[in-house]
Amino acid sequence: MEVSARQNKQKEQDFLVASISQLSISNSTSPRVVAKFHYDSGVAELRFDPESDPKASVHFDLHTSRLFKLSQSESVCISEASETDKEKSYSRGISIQFRNEEESRNFHCAFEQWKKEVVVQGSDFPNGTASSSQSKFDDKIEASSAKMYFHYYGQLLHQQNMMQDYVRTGTYYAAVMENRVDFVGRVVVDVGAGSGILSLFAAQAGARHVYAVEASEMAEYARKLIDGNPSLGERITVIKGKVEEVELREKADILISEPMGTLLVNERMLESYIIARDRFLVPNGKMFPTIGRIHMAPFSDEYLYMEIANKALFWQQQNYYGVNLAPLQSTAFQGYFSQPVVDAFDPRLLVAPAVSHVIDFTSTKEEDLYEIYIPLKFVSTVGTRVHGLACWFDVLFDGSTVQRWLTTGPGAPTTHWYQLRCVLAQPIYVMPGQEIVGRLHMVSHKAQSYTLHLTLSAKMWGPGAEQGGILQTSSGKLDLKEPYYRLSQPQAYPLPQDQQSNQLLQTQDIQIQAQDEEGSDLMQQTLQDSGAELHSL
Ligand code: SAH
Repeated sequence: MEVSARQNKQKEQDFLVASISQLSISNSTSPRVVAKFHYDSGVAELRFDPESDPKASVHFDLHTSRLFKLSQSESVCISEASETDKEKSYSRGISIQFRNEEESRNFHCAFEQWKKEVVVQGSDFPNGTASSSQSKFDDKIEASSAKMYFHYYGQLLHQQNMMQDYVRTGTYYAAVMENRVDFVGRVVVDVGAGSGILSLFAAQAGARHVYAVEASEMAEYARKLIDGNPSLGERITVIKGKVEEVELREKADILISEPMGTLLVNERMLESYIIARDRFLVPNGKMFPTIGRIHMAPFSDEYLYMEIANKALFWQQQNYYGVNLAPLQSTAFQGYFSQPVVDAFDPRLLVAPAVSHVIDFTSTKEEDLYEIYIPLKFVSTVGTRVHGLACWFDVLFDGSTVQRWLTTGPGAPTTHWYQLRCVLAQPIYVMPGQEIVGRLHMVSHKAQSYTLHLTLSAKMWGPGAEQGGILQTSSGKLDLKEPYYRLSQPQAYPLPQDQQSNQLLQTQDIQIQAQDEEGSDLMQQTLQDSGAELHSL
């Protein structure tokens, strides 16, 4: 399928050359030869057909061929022996005599163009089959999920949505520009380039060459955008394909990517980022972003809990047009609580300082992301009902000049990721100082997401604390693929009597604030404005 798409891109090309002679057979000079660039069974090749003797035609697989200029009108084409050659250990060469210098130049241009398309596109393999059917991506991900996923990213409006997240795009821009030293003269791979915006940033920062790898149809738009910015675009090559499958002609000094989904790991694109690292990055090369952290804290939110529980009340009706709906009530109840809630919440809802789970993109193994187990331990600062676990993430650009964080935390300027809350069907009661323990176990699935298994338990406290027992436990199973986007129904949170949980968030983010004073101003501002902001969502 992909091969035929490429065939359309590179049309067959013919050149008339004066003569050719095979290097290994000195007397085989033949007058007037047609040199043809074309596809044969999906393999791009260069074929020389002597006009006098069509049977004596010579074929070169472009994937393994190289062309050298000997003089203004004489060149040599060398090819590694292909699998089908009998004499595997020998390379083959041919000397080409052009009729004039201009034809030689045109031929060289065509050769380079074909090589660029074929080798860089990377899905033209010596055996004539595209590797896409064997790739690691296809082994892990259901075809129907991948189809919808790349269809989504193939649309400009979704790329625009990300580009218009100024916290996101602005932080990437700042991280690249402040760390020009990491880009100047370097080879960059943009993993999942989308519109190509990060490739253009890298080129602005002085990259020698950027390979923009994008699997969706967006690659065509990226080409257009890049062609329309020629001073940068001349240093960018767009490659349509999955990072798991394409081949590049050189290694990268630095990877740039925006592979983060909700809760950092949704979409399972981090795995593609890690695979790109292993396939394309030089040892000790840089990665932008470098590490990611998932932050988690218990929260209390009666409004949210009631809103979810009330949805299931519909199924409590015993006389719905004469039908008793109650047999499905508990199923509906479970169903609503299996949806993680995505919205921007007020940080004052947190009842304990957050814990973090770090993923170092430079060293994590791809398999480490298949299943993630995070033990949880908190100390509640208030007496309240805990309704579940609130989660958000941040990523670090560990540049040589500046370290910059992109954060999606509550109270910080809102991003298109918002925050995520796992709500438990059974809330737990805690007292100030009481320990909350549990775990978040995330198990990846083939629909490019995760099943979340959450357990929170209130431990014994006060005089009974030494016994270390559990007073109350609540568990839930949620599907990260099916979030409840609660953005159109903001709740008015009454102004706090309790400033305490507000301080909790600031404590855990101190490191970030210290590094980015401007960011901390913004954060203060947002905290002050947070009531208004929640209304305006
Ligand atoms: N880099 C762009 C787009 C980020 S969205 C920006 O920052 O604005 C992620 C992009 O990665 C999407 O366009 C998606 O199609 C692409 N993508 C996801 N998985 C991929 C893979 N395995 N190979 C190539 N592209 C991929």
